Amino acid sequence: MDAGSAHTSESDSAETQAALSGPTEKCGVVGVALEDRAAARPLYYSLYALQHRGQESAGIVTHDGFQQHSHVEMGLVGDAFDESDIEGLAGHTGIGHVRYPTSGGVNACCAQPFSVSFKSGSLGLSHNGNLVNADEIRSELADLGHAFTSDGDTEVIAHDLARNLLEADLVRAVKRTMDRIHGSYALTIMHDETVLAVRDPQGNRPLCIGELEDGYVIASESAAIDTLDGDLVRDVRPGELVVLEPDGSGFESYQLIEQDNTAHCFFEHVYFARPDSIIDNKLVYEARRDLGRKLWAESGVETDVVLPVPDSGRAFASGYAEAANETTADGAPRGDDEGTVEFAEGLMKNRYVGRTFIMPTQGERERAVRLKLNPIKSTIEGRSVTIIDDSIVRGTTSRQLVSLLRDAGAEEVHVRIGAPPIVSPCYMGIDMASREELIAADRSIPEICEEIGADSLGYLPVDAIADVLDQSKLDLCLGCVTGEYPYDIDGEEADRDVQRPVIGDGERAHADD
Ligand code: SF4
Repeated sequence: MDAGSAHTSESDSAETQAALSGPTEKCGVVGVALEDRAAARPLYYSLYALQHRGQESAGIVTHDGFQQHSHVEMGLVGDAFDESDIEGLAGHTGIGHVRYPTSGGVNACCAQPFSVSFKSGSLGLSHNGNLVNADEIRSELADLGHAFTSDGDTEVIAHDLARNLLEADLVRAVKRTMDRIHGSYALTIMHDETVLAVRDPQGNRPLCIGELEDGYVIASESAAIDTLDGDLVRDVRPGELVVLEPDGSGFESYQLIEQDNTAHCFFEHVYFARPDSIIDNKLVYEARRDLGRKLWAESGVETDVVLPVPDSGRAFASGYAEAANETTADGAPRGDDEGTVEFAEGLMKNRYVGRTFIMPTQGERERAVRLKLNPIKSTIEGRSVTIIDDSIVRGTTSRQLVSLLRDAGAEEVHVRIGAPPIVSPCYMGIDMASREELIAADRSIPEICEEIGADSLGYLPVDAIADVLDQSKLDLCLGCVTGEYPYDIDGEEADRDVQRPVIGDGERAHADD
């Protein structure tokens, strides 16, 4: 990943942040219902397992059958909770959230789960994704007298659902809200002590169901289920509402909306999800290795050594090197006399450089990659090397990496990327970068290659992604690499017909429509 975040002095922090950060997942969500055990601790462990999906804030809301308990703090999971916080979260059911903010600002009011009490009970909401029509619904609800405390889209969903719950039962109320909101959402919801999970009709963000010895869990990724010693049951289906029995004995499923095509975010497989998670029945690590193998077949170049950019490039590089040892770059079987392609960890990552560090000047900023990654000279010196990463966003890190390897004595530096060029922003909850910042938005691959100073550069084509993930392109969101989106977004091209609810015309959608 063309990543690494820096935090600088006030005057240039935004610039440096922008220059050095990669795409960032917005959130991770979880929900549990247990037979006879407090939900707080399993939720806490699950949030640890989902920490990679959001580091800005963490929170848990539980319900003990009488009242809701909530603890939401800024910071990492380990910093947000202490023992007494967990003890205070009473009840066998609850939901949790880790957040990285993109819309809605960086402050405590937007941290989640969002909780609210209203006439017919209490609601808690954890949201991963981004609504593209939140402003329209917010202004409609504001006209009806709803007062909002944040500018985030999660509160919009909570208010709309609370309003629908005054007129309809739980399932119908959720259906009404789903009929009105448009965009990407994987939600865990608490209505009093009942935990629900909802995935948008196109299934943009992942969400899965797990079974524990004494209950059920819903989580953004199956790695959270593993952490609780549970078994993955299946993914929540696009357009499905799952209702966990509050006593942990099972769950009910309601397919509330059916759509012909899904829009799974292909970047989950490429970068966001943990390699040990299973999404769409495929282990993410295997998907990345297969993408690496495909990368060799599509754009392999003969070099002495293949290096992953840690950690995100590792699975791609191992697949790429494995394929490189089976066939030559021309696709012919590799003979004994053609030697082997070495796969080596030639870039060492400093794990103690966190998400932010102080970089006051441009010269210092140039050292950002050096602080994070150090080349092993003996692996690189006098040799031709290929570095493998999952994506290039702004190109800053790739340029610095290439120069780092040349300084370490590499004779040639080739760059291979396990995804297509990122040409457009993401509107579905990923902090990608603006179009102006994306190096591939207005440059050809040879131009990018020149810009980052590599001897050659190769990406995976879009077709190869669909092929490896064994999905039709029409069932994937590929918006950031094609510029055509599966949702109806002002000023952008749509890649399919979108049935969008009409907002604010006085007609409200009904669950039994
Ligand atoms: S635009 Fe890209 S990052 Fe955003 S949801 Fe679609 S595939 Fe994922």
